[in-house]
Amino acid sequence: TSTQELLLSRIRDVRDYPKPGVVFKDITPLLADPEAFTALTDALVELCVEHGATKIVGLEARGFILAAPVSVRAGIGFIPVRKAGKLPGATLSQAYDLEYGSAEIEVHAEDLSAGDRVMVIDDVLATGGTAEASLKLIRRAGAQVAGVAVLMELSFLDGRARLEQALQGAPLEAL
Ligand code: 5GP
Repeated sequence: TSTQELLLSRIRDVRDYPKPGVVFKDITPLLADPEAFTALTDALVELCVEHGATKIVGLEARGFILAAPVSVRAGIGFIPVRKAGKLPGATLSQAYDLEYGSAEIEVHAEDLSAGDRVMVIDDVLATGGTAEASLKLIRRAGAQVAGVAVLMELSFLDGRARLEQALQGAPLEAL
């Protein structure tokens, strides 16, 4: 569609970042274009409504930028999922494997509860490790998963397959 073409045209390929051989998808041109950023926000709002979300989780750091205007437009609360050690209150933590080593993300325990239906928003789904860990956090908090919505899915990395079990039938939407 024309929205997809607009969004795609505002994503820049940066070669050899963050290391040789990787082509990084840079979304800063999209963020700098209000027409594209608005179109993205509107599309994400639509997905939140379609899937009955009652909470929006944004994944640090670019997920925060995308999820915040969606939260305001949709009138659905925003909850940050952060890298370990950044949230001041009592947290739930979830570790996950990276190519080399591991990482850990956290959410404020009091931000999610039974009865919530949570949409996870991020910019890029790569291996799916970050999104998978966020779904585990949401379920451990007793909440339901409404879905995962990303701007872009790097399908050659098979993140969709890695997420399948954690999604438990919830949708993965890639714009
Ligand atoms: P994953 O856990 O799926 O391997 O990696 C996804 C996370 O890394 C996301 O939070 C995303 O922001 C970041 N990421 C990985 N590759 C890229 C990329 O090419 N472009 C951008 N913008 N983010 C990426």
